[in-house]
Amino acid sequence: MLIDSHAHLDSPRYAEDREAMLRRTWDVGVGAVLAIGIGEGPTEMHQALGICRSFNARSESGAGLPRLYASAGIYPHNTREANDAALQKLDGLLAEPEVIACGEIGLDYYHEGAPHDVQRRGLIAQLEIAAARKRPILIHCRPKDGATDAWDDLFTVLDEHWRHTGLRGVMHCFGGGWEQARRSLDLGFLISFAGNVTYPKAQPLRDVAARVPLAGLLVETDAPWLAPMPNRGKRNEPGWVAQTAEVLAGVVGVTPEELAAATTRNFERLFGLSPAI
Ligand SMILES: [Zn+2]
Repeated sequence: MLIDSHAHLDSPRYAEDREAMLRRTWDVGVGAVLAIGIGEGPTEMHQALGICRSFNARSESGAGLPRLYASAGIYPHNTREANDAALQKLDGLLAEPEVIACGEIGLDYYHEGAPHDVQRRGLIAQLEIAAARKRPILIHCRPKDGATDAWDDLFTVLDEHWRHTGLRGVMHCFGGGWEQARRSLDLGFLISFAGNVTYPKAQPLRDVAARVPLAGLLVETDAPWLAPMPNRGKRNEPGWVAQTAEVLAGVVGVTPEELAAATTRNFERLFGLSPAI
């Protein structure tokens, strides 16, 4: 059994076939999916929880449909909307048992969007809420091409505002170098690889993945984006995490079964879940 640690199940791109897509997901051996609750901004932060609840209430949940979990958070480029009402909404969502993580939150200096200081303030405010609710965080970090600016700022913030909590997190869709991977592991974070690790030009990323200990790995789709080979460019879906996991297993030098078992165990440990699948 595999777990997709990061998928945007609330995307409008699944409006027509969400249930069929989740059935396919189960059928290829994906037992659980973490539905990311960022929507298009804080007003949609609750959508992932809604989807999670409606599918988990079905009798086929865990036997025909994957078990769903949810997160909630304000994406870096939406942090201009991180006002008191949005932060209060986040706090309320993190109090719900199904909402096991705060994210995806972080810093994105690659795309034009919220100013860097606004992103940092929004991140810090959410770290405080996640710490009080004892929820691990899901980090999105993307520097400018050829730079480590966002990573440097991220580690400064995490050292000051997160390390002391003793809580952990996930570096989602990891795209950094070994130095950033090493610092993430040092913080107790898991490193989650997405479909881009399967792309032909991603050898540097595969070289980093090869050095991450099995106990530090997760796999994800980031669906509907970043479909792995051979479906690159298509709408991604959680079942396709299997292709990414297979490539990653080869890179790490274990069987796909060993990689599935390790990443499932890592996910369950991080979020304190009983091994239900
Ligand atoms: Zn995402």
